[in-house]
Parts: sequence; structure tokens; C-alpha cells
Amino acid sequence: MSDLHTVAVVGAGTMGHGIAQVAAQAGYAVRLADAVPGAARAGLERIRANLDGGVRRGKVTAVERDATLARIEAVTAVDEAARGADLVIEAVPENLDLKRDLFARLGGLAPAAVLATNTSSLSVAAIASAAPRPERVVGMHFFNPVHLMKLVEVVTHEGTGAAVRDAAVAAARRMGKEPIVVRDTPGFASSRLGVALGLEAIRMVEEGVASPEDIDRAMTLGYNHPMGPLRLTDLVGLDVRLAIARYLHGTLGGQRFAPPALLERMVAEGKLGRKSGRGFYDWPGE
Ligand code: NAD
Repeated sequence: MSDLHTVAVVGAGTMGHGIAQVAAQAGYAVRLADAVPGAARAGLERIRANLDGGVRRGKVTAVERDATLARIEAVTAVDEAARGADLVIEAVPENLDLKRDLFARLGGLAPAAVLATNTSSLSVAAIASAAPRPERVVGMHFFNPVHLMKLVEVVTHEGTGAAVRDAAVAAARRMGKEPIVVRDTPGFASSRLGVALGLEAIRMVEEGVASPEDIDRAMTLGYNHPMGPLRLTDLVGLDVRLAIARYLHGTLGGQRFAPPALLERMVAEGKLGRKSGRGFYDWPGE
């Protein structure tokens, strides 16, 4: 099963176009599909722009760019993309019913394929149970922007076959990523740890332990994190972080992920971070 040749990417938005790019750069034959007419072609244009940028910066040769683009076919029909593929990676919006409908269909179109979902928060088991063969389903959680971020969380639900897991790990490596294997639990590894750190930093602001700048410096200078947890919260969006905190609080229980009152208040006041110009920092001109 590690000998995969054809990758279908379903959904050509923010994540799908990036996944199609790294798959094609790895040498796979890629079919990129999107239900909205023109969206797969638009995804292909975004890939072209990424690769052109790579050529300008000397990271990619013009020959590699052209070969990568030649390996990608943009199609409108999901069925056409998935039929006979060895690996299908789903990157449609984060909606359980939508993903379940798709996996129910994909199992029929590509019965021998590894079926991967790029969900960032839904239960992989809940998606897999809609597929005719849940053992073929695994999470492959890429990060944005896909062509730059190294991590892929390979998320296994209880029924994921060992060969399917291993194939997902091998495919992620071939795409130049560093896969980690994570059991299907809320927040997987990345969100759960990242949000825990962010919420504790917010509680420290609330308690007046130090200024936001100095709390961030504790992590950048003391722990060599590339960015402090409060600045990162501003970049991700306080509303996005609050939604994840509520979800993790509801699913994992306890007080660890209980949203701090300060976070609730800032979101209610429209202080959402960079996108609103104000969060733990000021973002003039954003
Ligand atoms: P997006 O909205 O940018 O793209 C989704 C695409 O799917 C759209 O182009 C849409 O037209 C298409 N689509 C909708 N229904 C479809 C269907 N039935 N068949 C085929 N195509 C369909 O979304 P995104 O940000 O790329 O997110 C996709 C998935 O990746 C979500 O599950 C999200 O949680 C996950 N994710 C997102 C990020 C991120 O930073 N954006 C990071 C990691 C994971």
C-alpha cells in the first residue's frame, strides 16, 4: 500500500491547493477537484503563483515548477478525480455532514484507496463510520500554508488499519513533511497543546503576572519558541481560539480548557487580534 501513484485532492481552497502542490512536487499524479465550477482551476493558479515565488527565491527551478504543474489535473467532478485514485485527501469545509456524505461516496469510487481527511477538529471516527470501509480512513492534518509548514498529524481512529496508517505516514514523508501519529482525540496533539499554552498565557494577563509582551518573551527568549502564545493568539484570531477552547472544554471536560473571562470579554468587544486591528497587541493598518 506504500506504493501509491495517484492522489486525488477534493476541495481546492486554502488547504486543498497547497496539498495538491506538495503531492505533485513529491511526484504523484494529482487530480484536484472542487464542486464549485472554476475553483479547481483557481486552485491551480494559486499553485502556479506559489511555484513562481519559489523560482524567484531560488527554492524551485523553472523545470521543477513546470514538471509539478504538468502533474496536476484540475477537474470539477469529484467522481472523476476520485475514481481509481490510490490516495484521496479530502479538504472540503469543516462540516461533519458534508464530510460524511463525501466519504460514503468515496468508498464506492475508490474502494482500494487510502481515504484521508484534513479535518482540523472533527472526529475522524465520526467521518470514517460513513465510509463503506472505515478501516481505510485516516486523518492527514496539514497546516497552513501547506507548502511551508512541516507538520502533518496522521490521526488514527480505533478502526484505522495499520497498513493505512503506515501509508499515510509514508505519503506525508514523501511530500516533504514530518508526520506524527496521533490518536483520534479532540484537538489532536497540536491544537490541544497550543491552545492550552495560549489559555494559560491569557489567565496570566488576567492575574497581572506580567505584561503580554513579557509573557511572550518568557517563551521566545526562555524556551526558544519562534513566537509567544499571545502574539500567536492575535494572529490566529481570538474568536477562533475561543471557539476551539469551548469545544475542547465541552469534549475533554475539567477546567483546563474553560475559556478565561478576559478572552470572552475581548471577543465580545470585537478585539479579535490582527484582523480587527486590536488584540493583546495593536495592529495598526491591518
Ligand atoms: P476552504 O473553504 O478554503 O476550501 C474548501 C473548498 O471545498 C472550497 O473551494 C469549496 O468550494 C470546496 N467544496 C465544498 N463542498 C465541496 C464538495 N462537496 N466537493 C468538493 N469540493 C467542495 O477551506 P479550507 O480552509 O481549505 O479548509 C478545508 C479543510 O481543512 C477543513 O476541514 C478545515 O478544518 C481544514 N484545515 C484548515 C486549515 C486552515 O488554516 N484553513 C488548517 C488545517 C486544516
